[in-house]
Amino acid sequence: MKAACVFTREDDILKTAGRINALTGALVAESALLEAWYLGDTKEGLAETARCVAGIGTVVRCPVGSGALPENWLDSLEALYRERQPELLIFTAGSGALATRLAVRIGGTCLTGCRTLGRDTDGLWVRRPVYNSHADAVSRPQGRPLVLSASKAGPVSESPVEETEQAAITEVGPVLKHYGYCLDRKLKASRAKNPLEEAKLVLVGGRGLGSRENYARLKQLARAWGGACGCTRAAAINGWADVADIIGQSGHVLRAELCITLGVSGAAPFMAGLENVKNLVAVNSDPDAPVFKAADYGLVGDALEVLEAWEKQAEEQKDEN
Ligand SMILES: Cc1cc2nc3c(=O)[nH]c(=O)nc-3n(C[C@H](O)[C@H](O)[C@H](O)COP(=O)(O)OP(=O)(O)OC[C@H]3O[C@@H](n4cnc5c(N)ncnc54)[C@H](O)[C@@H]3O)c2cc1C
Repeated sequence: MKAACVFTREDDILKTAGRINALTGALVAESALLEAWYLGDTKEGLAETARCVAGIGTVVRCPVGSGALPENWLDSLEALYRERQPELLIFTAGSGALATRLAVRIGGTCLTGCRTLGRDTDGLWVRRPVYNSHADAVSRPQGRPLVLSASKAGPVSESPVEETEQAAITEVGPVLKHYGYCLDRKLKASRAKNPLEEAKLVLVGGRGLGSRENYARLKQLARAWGGACGCTRAAAINGWADVADIIGQSGHVLRAELCITLGVSGAAPFMAGLENVKNLVAVNSDPDAPVFKAADYGLVGDALEVLEAWEKQAEEQKDEN
């Protein structure tokens, strides 16, 4: 089988490669012909692509610049596909829309948000969350080419990333047609990175905190403990917290050593953001809250009492130092 992993200049390649490697593990094991395509014009992006994908034989560089329209990216991808004819294309989690649109253009089958890819005697299978992450489905997509995008909360390959110094690098010119519909286009400067995804300790406030003031207190406690603070979608919708702080399917996926949730029920779309958390502590007044099923330690009680006790402790620690 010939497969291509697609990275673009918009991807944080070092961060996404682990999830791509987890998906391609089964292909590497069966010595499939693996290529990495890098659509971008930065030297770092190319070097990272060449270094980060385990088992690749060829890196194809297509220098699409920052001013290109999505149509230019798709034209270039379509041309690459027609020339190189992979049976399987794997996109990063951030490129689900590109994957879908490319599949339509090349008459392929597309599945987005894929967590695991494997092969058994009946062929390839793909595991991915469905119904807003309330269930996991295993599909056997029959159509080819098969176009997949990774889940942003999918497993990260534990295997050491191979140094693929032997990978050949081939350059292919981009297809840059003029599309008259775009009259003016200004790219916004990318937002500063949110510390949530890198933080070792994350406190998360949910609707059970009861008010914007209590969420602000939780944020202050997180700062005092040297951690970061996130929220559920319900807390953000109530206007207590910034939508940029949402954890879960529609927000950030944490990689914290320790995550403590206060007044969070543990709905499936929220829990999708905690799959890579090492230790989870949950505080909730309802002993039947679903969050306790996933928690390493659970505390049934009033989140505000717990918050107050921890604030006092942080204050005492400050005085001691
Ligand atoms: C397509 C889609 C995507 C979504 N994506 C996300 C997402 O990315 N992130 C996300 O968070 N949600 C997401 N949601 C919403 C999600 O389904 C839940 O509605 C949300 O996570 C609930 O937030 P919550 O736990 O704060 O609130 P609730 O579910 O209302 O839970 C509040 C909890 O607080 C407890 N509580 C109340 N008072 C106290 C107290 N004094 N002390 C302790 N505990 C108390 C209650 O027992 C309850 O368990 C999504 C939904 C959809 C449909």
